[in-house]
Amino acid sequence: MARVAVIGAGAMGLASAYHALKAGHEVTVFEADRVAGGMAAHFDFAGLSIERFYHFVCKSDRPTFELMQELGIGDRMVWRKTSMGYFVDGRHHRWGDPLALLTFPKLGLISKIRYGLQMFLSTRRNDWSSLEKVNARDWIVRWSGQRAYDVLWRRLFDLKFFEYADNISAAWIWTRIKRVGTSRASLLQEELGYIDGGSQTLIDTLVDAVENHGGMLKLGARVSEITSENGRVTGLVVDGAAQSFDAVISTVPTPFVSKLVPGLSAEAKAKYDAIRNIGVVCVLFKLGKPVTKHFWLNISDADIEIPGIVEFSNLRHLSETVVYVPYYMPQTHPKFGRSSEAFVAEAFGYLQKLNPALQAGDLLASQVGRLNYAQPVCEPGFLAKIPKVQTAIDGLQIADTCFYYPEDRGISESVRYGRLMAQAIDDPGVWRAENR
Ligand SMILES: Cc1cc2nc3c(=O)[nH]c(=O)nc-3n(C[C@H](O)[C@H](O)[C@H](O)COP(=O)(O)OP(=O)(O)OC[C@H]3O[C@@H](n4cnc5c(N)ncnc54)[C@H](O)[C@@H]3O)c2cc1C
Repeated sequence: MARVAVIGAGAMGLASAYHALKAGHEVTVFEADRVAGGMAAHFDFAGLSIERFYHFVCKSDRPTFELMQELGIGDRMVWRKTSMGYFVDGRHHRWGDPLALLTFPKLGLISKIRYGLQMFLSTRRNDWSSLEKVNARDWIVRWSGQRAYDVLWRRLFDLKFFEYADNISAAWIWTRIKRVGTSRASLLQEELGYIDGGSQTLIDTLVDAVENHGGMLKLGARVSEITSENGRVTGLVVDGAAQSFDAVISTVPTPFVSKLVPGLSAEAKAKYDAIRNIGVVCVLFKLGKPVTKHFWLNISDADIEIPGIVEFSNLRHLSETVVYVPYYMPQTHPKFGRSSEAFVAEAFGYLQKLNPALQAGDLLASQVGRLNYAQPVCEPGFLAKIPKVQTAIDGLQIADTCFYYPEDRGISESVRYGRLMAQAIDDPGVWRAENR
């Protein structure tokens, strides 16, 4: 039995703690925030418990289903038929299925066939090795053509990744297309899921499971240093006090790692520092009427500087309309530091452009959530940039949401990595098998 410290009580940290406890270890989880959940945490939105950042589930999220089953909450998954729209140059279009593509007026027939084929074959593809070093833009242009890229993709890339837009891995985009593209009831019908009660249901159940197995969860406990001696981890420092542990699992975002672990070599620190993330400012609205009938709406319109909105109440049915308006951007973007009021005013103005029937009185409540590191930027060849999960310091494993590239950040992959990190305490061969 080892004394294990887990840093971070998000999905990955809690899952690793739970599995490590089951394997017989003594586990303490340290979480800087006052609540558990990390990116998936809820908050009280004018009486409604909801995620700070929208969360949906796809049919391929198997590790989530397996964990929920094991925790006795397998019956809390809810599936709904959902739809997508595309707002292009001031007009709404249906989107997300072959018929919508055929009737879409902004592309010629050949472009539509090429685009449709690329999307369809992406859902059938399993091998991503030939996409790993390819630029997403080049991959899309090669298959679907320049026109389809310009009309359908360019603004989505530009308004999410800004200066990184032309340097995104095709393998990363492909996993996103496949995950959503295979979450369907039929060729013509998208079907997405959510956890009854929201992601908090899973987080609360994991917290209970950790505590019921004798684990300790310390909230408001920011780890300032992971200590090591002679190449072996010795513990960590919290609130100025050193605590001893035999093994440490860190799930904090990579930009924090090099400062957190002074014992890493300069070369190792540089690897973590080279991984870039963009932030998000996510505006959440409670509204008196719907904006659209879709769960998500892509936007390509010169007057709207966001790539889309998520009308969450079209997935999780709620008594009022709830819409997320995410502004992804590098922290260096001049807009990032704007006040919450400025974001709310601009985002509500956009919603009124999307649905002119929305009046000022329809804005019932709003809230702004911010994250400095919300989305890793995975450029072509990213695989070679990911450090090993088992570090050069014995007993210290480090991962965050970019480690499971080419999969995008998601609860499912985070809980899978949490399980693997727990297994690797006793069997480091786990990571060789994963090739990480
Ligand atoms: C806008 C947005 C939308 C998303 N949508 C979806 C979706 O629809 N579906 C989906 O599956 N996933 C979605 N995700 C991703 C999902 O939320 C994440 O993949 C998952 O929650 C990550 O969990 P994690 O434990 O790996 O990391 P995190 O949740 O980031 O957990 C890391 C934890 O470490 C803590 N921490 C940091 N530094 C320290 C320190 N020094 N000491 C102690 N604790 C520390 C942090 O407070 C945090 O709680 C979304 C994320 C965002 C931002």
